[in-house]
Amino acid sequence: MPIFEILSVGEELLWGLITDTNAASISRKLREIGFSASFRQTCGDDRAHLTACLKKALSRSDVIVVTGGLGPTYDDVTRDAVAEATGRSLVFHEETADRIRAFFARRGRAMADNNLLQAYVPDGAEVLPNDYGTAPGIWLETEGKLLILLPGVPREMERLMEEQVLPRLAAQSGMAGCVDVLHFFGITESELDTHIPEDLKNGADPAVAPFAGTGEVELHISAVRSTRKEARQAVCEAEQRLLKDLGGFCYGSGKTTLEQVLVERFARNGLTVATAESCTGGLLAKRLTDVPGSSAVLKSGVVAYSEEMKTRLLGVSPSIFSGDGVYSEACAVAMAQGVRALTGSDFGVGVTGIAGPGGATERDPVGAVYIAVSGKNGETARRFVLGHGKGERGFIRHLAASHALAMTLSQAGLFSWEPEKDGKEK
Ligand code: ATP
Repeated sequence: MPIFEILSVGEELLWGLITDTNAASISRKLREIGFSASFRQTCGDDRAHLTACLKKALSRSDVIVVTGGLGPTYDDVTRDAVAEATGRSLVFHEETADRIRAFFARRGRAMADNNLLQAYVPDGAEVLPNDYGTAPGIWLETEGKLLILLPGVPREMERLMEEQVLPRLAAQSGMAGCVDVLHFFGITESELDTHIPEDLKNGADPAVAPFAGTGEVELHISAVRSTRKEARQAVCEAEQRLLKDLGGFCYGSGKTTLEQVLVERFARNGLTVATAESCTGGLLAKRLTDVPGSSAVLKSGVVAYSEEMKTRLLGVSPSIFSGDGVYSEACAVAMAQGVRALTGSDFGVGVTGIAGPGGATERDPVGAVYIAVSGKNGETARRFVLGHGKGERGFIRHLAASHALAMTLSQAGLFSWEPEKDGKEK
């Protein structure tokens, strides 16, 4: 298996002005065809530094994908550094120059002469024509190594990768890969890890790798075979083994989210929901409405922050505030029932709690969140203590919304996870 390295070029990446999405995207795309990157480097627009990075990459990797620094300005040093690192001269590529001239002519724009700098390529390199910008991609085989240079603009890089680089790499390797993701809720990464069979760990094929997200865990399952169909089959078999033990916590596969799964499953079953939120301040409704097609499912979202509005909008009895308190299962249930009655939805969800950093009470620490779901078969209500007790407001609110989504799915019989009674969630 060849060793892959990704080298991202650009001062703005080192300054933290932009995030290196190119490297992540290239890594993902390589995995789709059965390869994974072993190294990554980031370098600024300094020719000597970049030459050193390239030499290092050439000394340890077989295929090096470089993005950025191919433009026409003084700080675009990738071409020069590659020429120096490989001991090649730069030659003028007439066809590329014509494409650049045509690119400007089509847009009716005058072309500054420096644009033709982009038509210089290392001697012996192949040009990967770029239909989406001016800097071409470059494919250079040198002393048994392969250098692939791509423009930094993500859209251009991605098109060149998809249309030209990946098909060539796949054809050369004669291998095909498949990657799938299983999404879990209500179980920690370490608990999940204990259920992964040993023969699927650590460089195995198929391989399973866990990743912890915000309150959720993903398992990435990958396989490489001689055909895509065989790779897919190997991934499916591994998934079936994993799901035997863990199926109850798995809410979906592929590129999905809890809110997407809720909208899809509710829509498929003709169900509707309405939300009554306090500490999440509308985040639950916002996440649902992020999903296209949510209008068929979400009837309404009420943000009732004050006690007065909980009573006026949702009919929560003031006796609940003086009795159980505003942070209580009773209040969450009353909010869920209230919004369900108000909207005529199949399900109502109520969320109340302490997002912090202040507001902890004698009984409830920051992160204590009460969630209730009301449906025609009754109510489920739970108290969770979310976050790490450090008052991370955004984190707690996100976790609260996720728990509300999972509980709603569960109450509707569309997800088999069940929240523990007074369970401490992470
Ligand atoms: P072009 O000539 O088309 O500009 P280039 O190779 O010179 O291509 P750069 O100048 O390095 O590309 O980058 C162009 C823009 O692309 C940057 O300003 C930045 O917004 C974006 N970009 C560059 N590298 C990355 C990266 N690794 N991840 C995300 N965005 C990037």
